[in-house]
Order: sequence, then C-alpha cells, then structure tokens
Amino acid sequence: MSQPPSPVSAEPKGVTFRGRGFARLRGTKLSLLICPHCSQRNAPQVADKGYCHWCTYEPSRDDIEPAS
Ligand SMILES: [Zn+2]
Repeated sequence: MSQPPSPVSAEPKGVTFRGRGFARLRGTKLSLLICPHCSQRNAPQVADKGYCHWCTYEPSRDDIEPAS
C-alpha cells in the first residue's frame, strides 16, 4: 500500500507575503485581508479577488509564506 499524494487541503490557512500583510489561502483561492504594500485592511468585496482595494497592489503568489 503506497500513500497517495497529499490532497489539496480545503482548510483555509493564513499566509503573509515575505512577512508582510496577511491573506487567507484556501486551495488556490487567495483572499487578501491586509495589504503587504500599504498595510491597510482590505475591503471584503475585493479581498477574494486577490488585490488591494486601496492601492490596487496585487501581491505575487511567489511571495507567499505561511504565517506563524
Ligand atoms: Zn494596498
């Protein structure tokens, strides 16, 4: 019996962007909650679109780090 590859977790997890801002990642869906560029709390209606309501900054997924 071999182990199957680990499934994509449906559990949302908190992430930062190189230690700045805060977002929630569920599967491949990114919700930007605090902007890493301007540090504003993001508006809920655009958070799920993955960019900042205030400065329109869209963080790169390459910068994602797990929040501790
Ligand atoms: Zn911003």
